[in-house]
Amino acid sequence: MRKLLELSPNFSKKTRKSSSIKFIIIHYTGMQSEIASIQRLKNKKAKVSCHYLINRKGKIIQMVPENKTAWHAGISRWKTYRNLNINSIGIELVNKGHRFGYEKFNDLQINKLVALCKNIRKKYNIKKNNILGHSDIAPLRKIDPGEKFPWKKLSEYNLGSWYKNFRNDLKQTKTVKIRNLFFKNLFKIGYRYYSVKVPKKSDRFIIRAFQRRYTPKNVTGKLNQKILLISDFLAKSQ
Ligand SMILES: [Zn+2]
Repeated sequence: MRKLLELSPNFSKKTRKSSSIKFIIIHYTGMQSEIASIQRLKNKKAKVSCHYLINRKGKIIQMVPENKTAWHAGISRWKTYRNLNINSIGIELVNKGHRFGYEKFNDLQINKLVALCKNIRKKYNIKKNNILGHSDIAPLRKIDPGEKFPWKKLSEYNLGSWYKNFRNDLKQTKTVKIRNLFFKNLFKIGYRYYSVKVPKKSDRFIIRAFQRRYTPKNVTGKLNQKILLISDFLAKSQ
């Protein structure tokens, strides 16, 4: 696969074992331009980086070698993992993001991402469900890659989890019960940063992270029957 190099100094110097690589984390750059993004990812003071950046034309730019830990995820959790930088490959997609004019991810960019992820997944034997967005592992701080990211399309290539169509034939569940069941399911799926027993104000960020990924046309931060059913399906397919 053709890759350009724009090496970043922002990575942990210790070489890691390939067996420690278990996740792929997807981001958007969230900056005005591609040039500004690359500059920031190369800036020593910014202390951020990624392994790969894919631009809007589908060019892949490598910034950190895969056997080094890049600094893209920050404080994060998924299942029993904490600080997922250590266990992941980070991929940034050039996109202005919610702050500067969130753009649709185009086919050139997504097709390259699919090819790159397939390649990485095979190389390190990464589980299909371990391809995640930044907002999945840091839902209280991050919203990238956001609701325009085509998770459904990726799942057609066995990248990331998705659900099958189902009939909405569950009896209406009481709201209190929905919360309990939903968050129990999310715990099984891997989400953290909430308590199943004690509702918190910040729960809406977790709900939104889930909705951005699985019901991108309905990101409300409020619980409903549909996301409960989807979470049920996903929890059972772990
Ligand atoms: Zn990110």
